[in-house]
Parts: sequence; structure tokens; C-alpha cells
Amino acid sequence: MTQLAEKLADRIRANGPITVADYMAACLGDREHGYYLHREPFGRRGDFVTAPEVSQMFGELVGIWTVLTWEAMGRPKPFALAELGPGRGSLMVDLLRASRVRPAFEAAAQVHLVETSPRLRAEQRSVLSDFRAAAEWHDSVDSLPAEALIVIANEFFDALPIRQHIRVSGGWSERMVGLDDSGRLAFGLRPTAAPPINADGDLIVADGGIVETSSAAPAIIHTIAERLAAHGGAALIIDYGYQGPAAADTLQAVRRHRYDDPLAAPGEADLTAHVDFTVLSKTAEAAGAAPRPLIEQGAFLGGMGLASRAASLAMGKTADVQDALRSAADQLAGPDAMGTLFKVLALSQPGLALPLFDGDDSPLRWSGMSNA
Ligand code: SAH
Repeated sequence: MTQLAEKLADRIRANGPITVADYMAACLGDREHGYYLHREPFGRRGDFVTAPEVSQMFGELVGIWTVLTWEAMGRPKPFALAELGPGRGSLMVDLLRASRVRPAFEAAAQVHLVETSPRLRAEQRSVLSDFRAAAEWHDSVDSLPAEALIVIANEFFDALPIRQHIRVSGGWSERMVGLDDSGRLAFGLRPTAAPPINADGDLIVADGGIVETSSAAPAIIHTIAERLAAHGGAALIIDYGYQGPAAADTLQAVRRHRYDDPLAAPGEADLTAHVDFTVLSKTAEAAGAAPRPLIEQGAFLGGMGLASRAASLAMGKTADVQDALRSAADQLAGPDAMGTLFKVLALSQPGLALPLFDGDDSPLRWSGMSNA
């Protein structure tokens, strides 16, 4: 048993079974043993690889989108450039480097990072210090400044806790984490009322079907959407997920690039759930922001000029480097890779024309950007 498994078993013995949301929150965020607080999740030697870690091109293209959005907003100065869950900070570094095609952008942007892990904050501080002196860290979106805002979040919402509701004999039960006879963590059921599904009333769930709900994700979107409506701005949310509600169990644990039993190693495996983008869009709309139809990551990166960026980086390089760039582009945008699995949701203040999402925008030419 991991140390966190022991700690959770004590808690369950004292207070009874906990919800899947409480279990996820403890696995990822426990102050002593939480996954993001002590593990190195990213990269080949970690547990999983995220898009910004696959290639600098990902953050650069998000950066070009961000610059164009800032221009569409009327170049506010200053404005808050916020990233939620920045991991190693790679996306922000690549974004800022790409944004140098418009020097006024860097002068106007005040970087705000929402990150709960002290260890990852330290990594972010160190990679960003080469770039700029000032960045501010936040425990939550609530303390972001009240000013024009552009928010970026890649693989952040999948880390937020979900609850699981199971259809049992025509009624509903909640999936709980308790202990089996030998004292090991085990799933169980607790009868509950019908879950608050944000459906239009027509979701029919067969016996055994699981519906997932989240209170953390809509709460964060609500706060962001209110700020976009009040102060202007946009948000770009990239994650794996579905347009819900869907009757499926999406809770998954990943450890050393393999799926694992979510109860096997609490605190030592990454734990995620697919994001219900319908809930995020509806919540944003209700709070006064305008959501765009969901698009796939491949379409986003393709539309932002992935092919020309890859070609420009490949120019004059060895065959090995060219191959690596090609395979990185395939991994990020290919149909059997992240390109279709990952989705992109854009939100904005009402009336703002967003690059790529609205009309016949033509992304920046790469001529101005160095090949660093
Ligand atoms: N965006 C990065 C990292 C994704 S991993 C990338 O694409 O590589 C998830 C990130 O969210 C980590 O930085 C983790 O510490 C952070 N995180 C997870 N839950 C959080 C929460 N509730 N509040 C703030 N940050 C959180």
C-alpha cells in the first residue's frame, strides 16, 4: 500500500467511505502525498507526455492564437495572460517566445499562473525566469486580477474531481471508495438521489451505466466567464473529453505510460476523467460569455499553421531532425493521435471575433519568427 492509501484507509475507517471526487482530490492534491506535489509526471521518464512536451510547436501555435486574440481585443495594456495548471511551464515559454513577432504583446502581458503544486511552481519559476522577471502565482482563478484576460488551459480540467453516479435497478447509487474485508481500498455503492445531469432531459441510462458530474470544473468556468463578460477577453481550453452527458466511466489512472487500476497506487499514479465540454459551454453561456462550437486539436493546430511552422523549423536541418519534427506534428495533430482525442473549446466576451473560430481569419505568417 502507498502512504496515501494508508492515510485514506484511516480516514475511511474513521468517517466511512468517500466519494470518487474526494478520492481524486486526495490522490492529486494531498499536501503530503498528492501526485502533483511529489511526483515528476511529465516526459519519457515520468508517467505521461502532454502536447507542450511533445514539441515547442504546440505552445508556439497557441501563442500565435493568443497574440491575434489580443489584437482582436484592441491590444489592451496591461492585460492578464493566465494559464491554469502550467505543469513544467513549457507551453507558456513557447507561447511567449512566439509572441515576440509582436513586441507590444510581451510589454502588455502580465503573466498569471494558477498552480497548486509548490514543486511545479518552482519549476515554472525557473523556466520563466529566463524570459521575464514578473509572473504571479495563484491557488485558484478567484484571485486573478479584474482586468482584460486571456486564459489558456491544457490538460487542466481533466485533473479536476468528478463524482460517479450509477444506475441501479431503475434508481441511482453513487460510486464510493471504501474498504474491503482485508482493509484494502475498494469501490462500493451508496444509494442516492438522481444526479444533477445537465442534460436536456433525454439521457436514458441503462442499468449499470455511469454518469459523471463535476462541481469544480463548472465553478472555475463560471468565474472565468464572468470576468470575460465584465472585463473583456477570451479563453482557450484544450483537453480530452466529450459533449455530454455520456453514460460512461472515464476515471483513469496512468502510471509510467500505462493504464493502471485507479485504486492501486493512490498518490503515485496520475488520475484523470474526461471533460464534459457541454457542461463547460453551458456554464460559460449562463455566466455571460460566448462559447464557440468545440473543434478537434488537429483542426486547431492545422488552422493555426502547424505544417508551415514544421517546415520552417525543418529548413536546413538534418534528416533526423526533420523526421522528429514530422513525427511530432503527426502526434499532435494526427487522426489516430492527440489530433482527434483532444478537443479545443474557445470562450470570449460577447461580440469578440476570435482568430480561427470566427470567419476567414488568416493566422500570422511565420516570417517574423526566429527558429530558436
Ligand atoms: N498544462 C500542463 C500540465 C498538465 S498536468 C501540460 O500540458 O503539460 C495538470 C496541471 O494542473 C499540473 O500543473 C497540476 O499541478 C495542476 N493542477 C491540478 N489540479 C489543480 C488545481 N485544482 N488547481 C490548480 N492547479 C492544479
